[in-house]
Amino acid sequence: MGLIERTTKALLLGELAGGMWLTLRYFFRPKVTLNYPYEKGPLSPRFRGEHALRRYPNGEERCIACKLCEAICPAQAITIEAEPRDDGSRRTTRYDIDMTKCIYCGFCQEACPVDAIVEGPNFEFATETREELFYNKDKLLENGDRWETEIAQNLEADAPYR
Ligand code: SF4
Ligand code: SF4
Repeated sequence: MGLIERTTKALLLGELAGGMWLTLRYFFRPKVTLNYPYEKGPLSPRFRGEHALRRYPNGEERCIACKLCEAICPAQAITIEAEPRDDGSRRTTRYDIDMTKCIYCGFCQEACPVDAIVEGPNFEFATETREELFYNKDKLLENGDRWETEIAQNLEADAPYR
């Protein structure tokens, strides 16, 4: 580019006009950003978020304490203790997940024969302290109660692929 051409372009603010034109073009296009947390994008039914322990509709815990999830967990994040109840059924007395160890691989969910432990759609569970990420059975059952509708829908949507 010659000296005259460069000078003319500079005097006429060509770069600035080009930039403004580009801005104007994008101004009228559909937005690609979301105003999070007030707007949220769609999530796959297979999204692996915060863990939850589910119950049957009658309120009974699904988990039968088979410990398959504990055995398969590559991060050894799950700790289970169990003993038989008076009616002979086997249930957990302790079900802990150390969420600081979890790598969200989903193996626990895949291994569970009764769809008891699942990774739900919740991804907003950041905490201020490390201790808050040591989940116990009460916390996991509470998550299950809170997210059951969404979890059931996601499992149903994913059923043909399982
Ligand atoms: S998602 Fe993976 S790492 Fe996390 S608890 Fe389940 S099996 Fe373990
Ligand atoms: S959550 Fe599922 S895999 Fe884990 S102990 Fe309970 S029944 Fe077994």
